[in-house]
Amino acid sequence: MKESILIQGGQIIDPSQGIDAIGSLLISEGKISWLGKGEETPPQPDYDILNAKGLIVCPGFIDLHCHLRQPGDEEKETIASGTSAAARGGFTTVCCMPNTNPPLDNQTAIEFIKSRSALEGMVRVLPIGCISKGRKGGELAEMGELALSGVIAFSDDGEPVPSSHLMRQALDYSRAFDLPVIDHCEEKALTEGGQMNEGVISTRLGLRGIPSAAEEIMVARDLALAELTGGRLHIAHVSTEGSVDLIRRAKEKGIKVTAEVTPHHLTLTEEKVIGYDTNAKVNPPLRTKKDIKALIQGLNDNTIDIIATDHAPHTEADKLCEFDLAPFGISGLETALGSLMSLVHGGELGLVTLIAKLTNEPARIISNKYAKLGTLATGAPADVTIFDPALEWVVEPKAFASKGKNTPLAGEELKGRVMATIYQGKLVYKDDSIKVKES
Ligand SMILES: [Zn+2]
Repeated sequence: MKESILIQGGQIIDPSQGIDAIGSLLISEGKISWLGKGEETPPQPDYDILNAKGLIVCPGFIDLHCHLRQPGDEEKETIASGTSAAARGGFTTVCCMPNTNPPLDNQTAIEFIKSRSALEGMVRVLPIGCISKGRKGGELAEMGELALSGVIAFSDDGEPVPSSHLMRQALDYSRAFDLPVIDHCEEKALTEGGQMNEGVISTRLGLRGIPSAAEEIMVARDLALAELTGGRLHIAHVSTEGSVDLIRRAKEKGIKVTAEVTPHHLTLTEEKVIGYDTNAKVNPPLRTKKDIKALIQGLNDNTIDIIATDHAPHTEADKLCEFDLAPFGISGLETALGSLMSLVHGGELGLVTLIAKLTNEPARIISNKYAKLGTLATGAPADVTIFDPALEWVVEPKAFASKGKNTPLAGEELKGRVMATIYQGKLVYKDDSIKVKES
């Protein structure tokens, strides 16, 4: 293959530059080198051609929230398998949560992630460091050391920060580094033993419920602390109507808060749990149609800034047990786009908005060092996702690159599929139907 590749005749959508037009994109030496509209031809002659007619061409997706499980739980996922799943899902940057074993709460651990990703990663991996030592909620991790080693945020994800005082300190310190604190909002006193959303269905199934209030209490507390400290707060996996309202009001007041929602909380309800499918067990739990409506409204009015997968792979054995004993989590990288496109096809979310929530919006949260992510601007790293918005396909977990086959979507038909992913100018994934020709 040549050094340069021309992605020809696709519908180029780049929200960072306000571009939505048929055209061609030239990639040279790992960078975006030219973007031409209509039939324009590039200024240089020597390149391979990827025919993108009928396909969407956009900046590579950025996932601010995923679990790669390495070190410590390599049977669930590794940096190699997780980034391979990311490439198939159209993600060229993934930010990995620090709830590994041992947790990412020191410089050595971050160096491990960076060196492993450089060796085995199919796409860019940006680590997130712990808020507290060992994620135990007792004392702060060495946040300064973590910031210097290159973390893009702090989080104890998987667990909340129970102490208001510690959360206050974290938000205070993070301000000095201009890095966000990513908040897993859960009041544990209300979720102990909880299995699914609390309501009529949990009662009928005889499963202990997790009330919306368990999330909203923490959202409210931490918005108050963000206001007090002026620190940057990012609320992970928002799942309830009440949380959306709280965040909306906080933004109106000028509090520095951003928020994310997952594809599963946008497209699936608690009814998925009927039948006790452990693959539908996730934290926070799948909620109701009313919550979904509020979450979509939140995306559309920018109360919710981004979509992140919360990709949480588990082994089959982990999930093959009684509902009460199964771990929480959905393997989401490879079904994200197909799931989300159902909102576009249903007229609930615009295609450009969807792409913005997966590209330039997360890039904005990741901070200035990486400002060239999430864009097809000339000179930016050539991270490009090419997808067919209308292709119908059936979810087969066995075909996942992720080790985590735990999806509640097995056997379901999705409309919209990633056809090729380019990371720093290299094709890291392509569907068999995509041919690259020499010019
Ligand atoms: Zn979480």
